[in-house]
Amino acid sequence: MKIFSILGIILLCALTFIIGYKLPTSQNPAPETTPSQITQAKTFHWKMVTTWIPNLPVFQDNVEKMAEEIETMSAGRLKVKVYAGGELIPPLETFHAVSQGVVQMGHGAAYYWAGEVPAAQFMSTVPFGMKAKGMNAWLYSGGGLELWRDLYKPFNVIPFPAGNSGVQMGGWFNKKINSIDDFKGLKMRIPGLGGKVLAKAGGTAELLPGSEVSTALERGRLDATEWVGPFHDKRLGLYRAAKYYYPGWHEPGTTLELIVNSQAFAELPADLQKIVEMASYALNQRIYSQFEAFNIKALRELKQEHHVNVLAFPPEVLKELKRLTVETLDEEADKNADFKRIYEAYKQFQADDAAWNAVSEDAYRSMIIDQ
Ligand code: CA
Repeated sequence: MKIFSILGIILLCALTFIIGYKLPTSQNPAPETTPSQITQAKTFHWKMVTTWIPNLPVFQDNVEKMAEEIETMSAGRLKVKVYAGGELIPPLETFHAVSQGVVQMGHGAAYYWAGEVPAAQFMSTVPFGMKAKGMNAWLYSGGGLELWRDLYKPFNVIPFPAGNSGVQMGGWFNKKINSIDDFKGLKMRIPGLGGKVLAKAGGTAELLPGSEVSTALERGRLDATEWVGPFHDKRLGLYRAAKYYYPGWHEPGTTLELIVNSQAFAELPADLQKIVEMASYALNQRIYSQFEAFNIKALRELKQEHHVNVLAFPPEVLKELKRLTVETLDEEADKNADFKRIYEAYKQFQADDAAWNAVSEDAYRSMIIDQ
């Protein structure tokens, strides 16, 4: 009986195998290749340019890491070759190159294109504006990114937030700033709107590339300079060129951007588009986290090993700089409709963010200090 049962099972298995084996050929013919599978199999070779010097830590190295990750996540279907500033095109040509489709992707900061798109400055940073936390909240969840996408649309460029410097330092000065009059005649390397505010205060804003800043300060061609924060400032040796180091007011949370040519993006299948988007989120977080962590260590070293004293601008100096900032922003808004529209949205979100912060971060910080 037992032998018959075993034989029966074997026979049944054999029959199932024969029927099952025949099924694909008789009832399920091999599917034809669909158009989406052809796109899925296609490999895209993209070029990417940045505004950064080769090997610049936190900026350039993280962009290169992102390109490697895009290739890994796409199983090699999207390969991005990264060029630092000057390797393929001049750094400040990045926006044009992406806009014209010379390259598919770029990385920089929106205020670099202020000459062509003045309102873009709100997407990087403005003096006395929002910090990284507020910028991320506004861009991702408060309507800022939609405004940014609309602003770049005529240029065939899609922006993604992709990094944040955190609060930048106010810079290195070869004399103490005790009153607003100390800015009169001061030659300082300071870009963008901060530079315009300095000019209103009686100073001269210079825009020198990072490589020349330290020497210019040492030789007296400059009286002061800002750069980024303790990590990059230390790397540039600025503590050797000027004595007094001040906290910042002009770049409170500079957002970096990943920009993609809109036609190139549209040609990608949906999964590769999603990979690019997710890579930008990761880059945004990674750059910001590194800045915060590296600045902690660099500030400690500047203080302990190089005996740098961090001073503070007197409150009346900051009050005047703030007044001049509002004056500058209002003047720019009168000249450009996009600037005005985005300024209004930015201002509203900043005010709302400040009201929430008063009972969250600021309140909490006061509790910690009181302990
Ligand atoms: Ca800066």
